[in-house]
Parts: sequence; structure tokens; C-alpha cells
Amino acid sequence: MICRFCKTELFNVFIDLINSPPSNSFLTENELNKPEIYYPLKIYICHNCFLVQIDEYKQSDEIFNEKYAYFSSYSSSWLIHSKNYVNMAIQKFQLNKKSFVIEIASNDGYLLQYFKERGIPCLGIEPASNVAATAKEKGLNIIEEFFGADLARILVAEGKIPDLLIGNNVLAHVPNLNDFIQGLKILLHHKGAITLEFPHLLKLIEKNQFDTIYHEHYSYFSFFTVNNIFKFHGLEIFDVEKLPTHGGSLRIYVKQAEDKSKVILQSVENLINLEIAKKINNIDYYKGLQSKANDIKYDLINFLITQKKKDNLVIAYGAAAKGNTLLNYCGIKKDLIKFIVDISPKKHNKFLPGSHIPILHEDEIKIFKPKYILILAWNIKEEIMKQLNYVREWDCKFIIPIPKVMIV
Ligand SMILES: [Zn+2]
Repeated sequence: MICRFCKTELFNVFIDLINSPPSNSFLTENELNKPEIYYPLKIYICHNCFLVQIDEYKQSDEIFNEKYAYFSSYSSSWLIHSKNYVNMAIQKFQLNKKSFVIEIASNDGYLLQYFKERGIPCLGIEPASNVAATAKEKGLNIIEEFFGADLARILVAEGKIPDLLIGNNVLAHVPNLNDFIQGLKILLHHKGAITLEFPHLLKLIEKNQFDTIYHEHYSYFSFFTVNNIFKFHGLEIFDVEKLPTHGGSLRIYVKQAEDKSKVILQSVENLINLEIAKKINNIDYYKGLQSKANDIKYDLINFLITQKKKDNLVIAYGAAAKGNTLLNYCGIKKDLIKFIVDISPKKHNKFLPGSHIPILHEDEIKIFKPKYILILAWNIKEEIMKQLNYVREWDCKFIIPIPKVMIV
């Protein structure tokens, strides 16, 4: 495999999760009778630029098609996060009715709806047609395309040049990273700003978040590496914030390298220094996640088998992509987890890929009264435990799998 940024040949394995079907390929009852395709889930680390990455086993148009089931708007905490961002961005970048905002991977319009509410012209770019359709129902303008240098040139030719260009949780999903960032460079107004949010690799390593690895996530970024990648493409990070979302993310603020109207804030140097102090630019830093992931795997299976032998019912909550990585790496099937509950009605009566655990409505919890609920969407565990607080009536407990198996 060749590094998708610097083209160095890769041979250092970061973690090997063996294999898994694509994480968002939920199955219908009919599809349970068909063969299922498993792809290798092996992650490499580049010893030259320290980009952590997966080989592109699966063509992205196979993943982001009409079956793509992730709708951003089903998480209430994510909506609050998005609304706060919009208020902040309008103030920080002094956006008004004459400004223009573009969001790449605009999903179901979870974020752009708040710009629209404030009367700021905006455009979404979203290749997955089912989520794009939901955004259009909200009255948003959406282009159904993958973003890259070609689309950026078309938008520029049409005069659609953004003052603010947003990409939340899209950078990791891009197979052709260099083409995507080149597209950002081409599209951005010479005095404009880009903000991107992505999970922080430091958190993945330090909090054992190996389940955030799946085929749709091609790259995993430290600030050190992302800063070098943007520099290479003639863009410059001028601010960075740490966010609690997705188990610990970064929000970077990027400008054209030629734009001298913005100062580079101290936050940039501070975070690079912190990462270098942790030896992020040394291959040894990246070793050790495999054995921690294995510890979680063995502890979780052990716990579930013990409950099974006691006839205690265990279910799970949150049919997110990360849940599929965890369940498939641990080899957990529906004999150990009876069903999974999810808030999204679009997932109900479907089945998880690989494990074939059925996805049901939350009402089933009250009917079956499980002894334990495994929280797969641990990044919003507080929100979930509050919502399910009524299960305490029959002394049900929660299992939190990450950063280590805990019963609460
Ligand atoms: Zn590299």
C-alpha cells in the first residue's frame, strides 16, 4: 500500500481488526439469506508523514449510495452542537445576507438549516441521495456530488465562491485526500475561511477508540500531520479548538496561505508542541492499540457469555457504524445480544451487517426488560442513559465498552 498523502510505501501496521462488512450496510430480512461481503480491516501508519490510513478496499460509491443510513439529525446533542457552531461562525466571520456558505457532506441539512433560518445564503454538497432528499425537503439547495478539484472548478466558474467552507466529519471519509484538499484550495475565496471537524487521532489512541475504525474512514489525523498536509496544498491552519464530539474531535480553521489578513493564533503552535511532546512523530507512539483493543474484546465476550449462562437478557443501544466494528471484531452475534434499539426509524426492522442483530424500536425495552444494555454509541452515553433512565426501575445496568469495559 502507498500513503494516500505522501506516496511512501507503507509497511507498519497500526491495528489489524481482521475483517468486517461495510459498517453502514444495514440488511433487510430478505438480504439475510444472501451472502455477505467482508473486507479486510487493517490500518497502516506512514513512517514518513504519520498519516494513519486504511487501504481503499471498497469503492466509495458503493458505500455512499441510497442505502447509506446515517442521518445526522437523529442526535439531539449533535443538533445543539451544530446550532452553536452556526451562531459562533456568523459572529466570528461577520456573515450576513451577502455572504455565501458551502458545506461539504451536508447530510440531511442538520447544520445548513440554521444558516437558512438566519437568512444566510448557503449550498450543500452531498453524494448520498437519500439524506440529500431530506435536506431538500427543508428547502436547502443541495448538489448531489462527491467533492474534489473538478467540482471546485465548476463551482468557481459558476461564481459560487464561499466566504465560509465547512466540512464536518468528511475529511476522514475521503479516499482521494489530495484531490479533496486541492478542491478546498481552488474553491475558497481569497479572504475566506474553512472550518473542518474530524476525530482526533490522539484521542483514538489514548482512549482505545478502536471501534471508530471502519471502511468508510480512510484516514485518521493528528494535528501535526493535518497541519503538514494543508501546508503542502497552499493552505494554512490559523486556529484550532478541541471539541468533545465523537469522543474527542478537532475543529481547524484554515485560510489561503497568501491571505495575510488573518493572524495565526497561539493555539496552533500549542497543539503541535503538545503532540510532539507525546512523540506523535515517532512510530513507537502508534504501537500498543492492538493489545488494548484485544483486552476490550476478551473482557466484553467474557462478560456476555457469563450473562448468557445466567440467562440474563442483554440488548444494545445505538446502531452506529462504530457499534458494528466492535461487534464484528468481538465476533458477537444475536445469541449474545438479543436486539439493538435505535432512535432512527429508518433503521427499524433492519439487521446489523455481520452480526445480524435486529434493530428495533425503543418500546421493546419496556416489553423485554433487559438486565443489561450495551451502549455502542458511547460518545453520547450521557444523552442515552438520561433518555433510558426508566430502565433503572427494574435494576437494569449499562455496559460501556470504551475506553474499557465498565458496568454502570
Ligand atoms: Zn505518508
